Amino acid sequence: MKRGIKSNRVGRATLSDGVVVTAYRAVVDFMCVQCAGAIMPGALFSRRSRSVPVGALSVTQTTDPVCVTCRPLRLEAAVARGGAADEPPTDPRI
Ligand SMILES: [Zn+2]
Repeated sequence: MKRGIKSNRVGRATLSDGVVVTAYRAVVDFMCVQCAGAIMPGALFSRRSRSVPVGALSVTQTTDPVCVTCRPLRLEAAVARGGAADEPPTDPRI
C-alpha cells in the first residue's frame, strides 16, 4: 500500500528562540510528542528530528511532530500572506 500524504510543507517559520524551522500543515491527525495533544488536520506544526539507534553502531534520523502550543511558530511574512508577493498595506497618512 502506498503511503498517503500526511502533511504539507508550508514554509519557513521562526521559533520563539529565533531558530528557523520548517512549518507543516497537518493533513491527518498527529500526536504531539511533547504534550501528547492532538494536532488536527489543517493545524500548523513543526517537526523535531532525533536520532534513533539502529543496532549497536548506527543511528537513523526520524522526525516527530510538535504542536504549536509546545513550540509556537511565527511564519515568515511571505508565507503568512499565502506566498503572495503583494506589498504590505501602507498608511497614506505617513
Ligand atoms: Zn504539544
